[in-house]
Amino acid sequence: MTFTVAIVGRPNVGKSTLFNRLVGRRVAIVHDMPGVTRDRREGDATLLGMDFRVIDTAGFEDATGDSIEARMRRQTDQAVAESDVVLMLIDARAGVTPLDRHFGDLLRRCKTPVILVANKCEGKAGAPGLYESYALGLGEPVPLSAEHNEGMAELFDALMPYAKAAGALDDEDEEQEPFPDEIAVDDEEITTEDRPERPLQLVIVGRPNVGKSTLVNRLLGEDRMLTGPEAGLTRDAVTVEWEHRGRRFRLVDTAGLRKRANIDDPVEKLSVSNTLEAIRLAEVVVLVLDQAAILDKQDLTIARMVIEEGRSLVLAINKWDAVDKPEEALKRLKDRCETSLPMARGLAAVTISALTGKGIPRLMDAVQDTHAVWNRRIPTSQLNRWLEEVVSHHPPPALPGGRRIKIRYMTQTKARPPTFVIFASKPEELPESYSRYLINGLRESFKLPGVPIRLYVRAGR
Ligand code: GDP
Ligand code: GDP
Repeated sequence: MTFTVAIVGRPNVGKSTLFNRLVGRRVAIVHDMPGVTRDRREGDATLLGMDFRVIDTAGFEDATGDSIEARMRRQTDQAVAESDVVLMLIDARAGVTPLDRHFGDLLRRCKTPVILVANKCEGKAGAPGLYESYALGLGEPVPLSAEHNEGMAELFDALMPYAKAAGALDDEDEEQEPFPDEIAVDDEEITTEDRPERPLQLVIVGRPNVGKSTLVNRLLGEDRMLTGPEAGLTRDAVTVEWEHRGRRFRLVDTAGLRKRANIDDPVEKLSVSNTLEAIRLAEVVVLVLDQAAILDKQDLTIARMVIEEGRSLVLAINKWDAVDKPEEALKRLKDRCETSLPMARGLAAVTISALTGKGIPRLMDAVQDTHAVWNRRIPTSQLNRWLEEVVSHHPPPALPGGRRIKIRYMTQTKARPPTFVIFASKPEELPESYSRYLINGLRESFKLPGVPIRLYVRAGR
């Protein structure tokens, strides 16, 4: 199935530059679209191994005598209608202009999902525009630099869920080879990208009635500090800061700190979009579960959203003061994690009582530990020593005709979540199962439990 992405935005924001970046050397097909004021370009794009069709709408500005808005609208409507997802570009150096806002209004009204992309973010000059762009109401912007090839992994991450939804990527459940025990690593050189001077950004999510409000209220200690919405947060979001064992935490509560009146509201439903919005604000997401119904379907949906968004996840099993059969509850939790959340093996789960406060210090410890894992940086030299050993133990399967895929090199391109790229001779032929084998190996050898791990395979000499 083709997955189609349109690039839209006002003139000069860098649409063509991004288009060329994505399509690379491949020849862009130039279409003369009847009924459209000007040509548009389409091409086969590839981004860290994800293939899709990309439509560039650049170029309408120098067309007929219509108003720019009218032409923009026609061009955009057409491209948007054909796409699975739209990248709306802004120029972060120029900030948000009235034309950007006009575009935002247009796109917010259409059904196709929109990813806001803040281009020209290399260096620091893009920062104000980046923050300003939250006000377009199109969600969190993806900062990148099309010209300098920065932020492509983030763009990949943003596109990934839509590619999956369009059926362009494989699903991830399959039998896994056991990973050899004898591969050991020296963890002395492993560092963390954490910046302890910044508060750890936390959100609490969960189905209605599991005890989120009770937990939030419990977390607000004596010396809490309430702050109003700030740049980058949704209108209703409120942040609270406090300290636990010398570490500052910032809780972002999108429900506006849940007034007591709402607590017993029986009609409150799980809103996927609100939950998603909250997740995107977090570094660590605490998913609150009720011990009486651990990891039901809705819980799993939220957990998967957290993992797919690349955030780190901690499970809080609440109402433990009222648990009847603790062993059964824990066994159910373990089984569900193993079968339904294998992409974040080793998740931290803490039993708590939001009502009595029991277990909350342990929960905060788990949040802190998971955050450290999520920030981990593994030196390239170690990764390559590891890779060599792994490949010699268990090489990728032979291709038809006895040819072999050569795996050459590996590096961690970013933390938060740990993201790796390996270079191989025939990346498109490396089976998914082998990538998963490597991911599980990375998790075990470098002690990365419970966080999403991303691995991209690229062509390399
Ligand atoms: P379009 O009209 O939206 O297609 O924009 P273009 O791709 O033609 O780019 C407009 C201008 O912005 C050109 O001068 C590009 O070189 C420049 N540009 C594009 N991407 C970047 C970027 O990431 N950083 C900077 N600083 N300039 C960029
Ligand atoms: P929310 O909808 O997730 O915000 O859930 P609430 O915080 O409103 O809690 C729902 C119900 O569960 C309320 O009646 C709470 O008093 C109760 N509750 C919350 N935490 C606990 C707990 O730790 N133990 C027990 N027994 N009940 C709890």
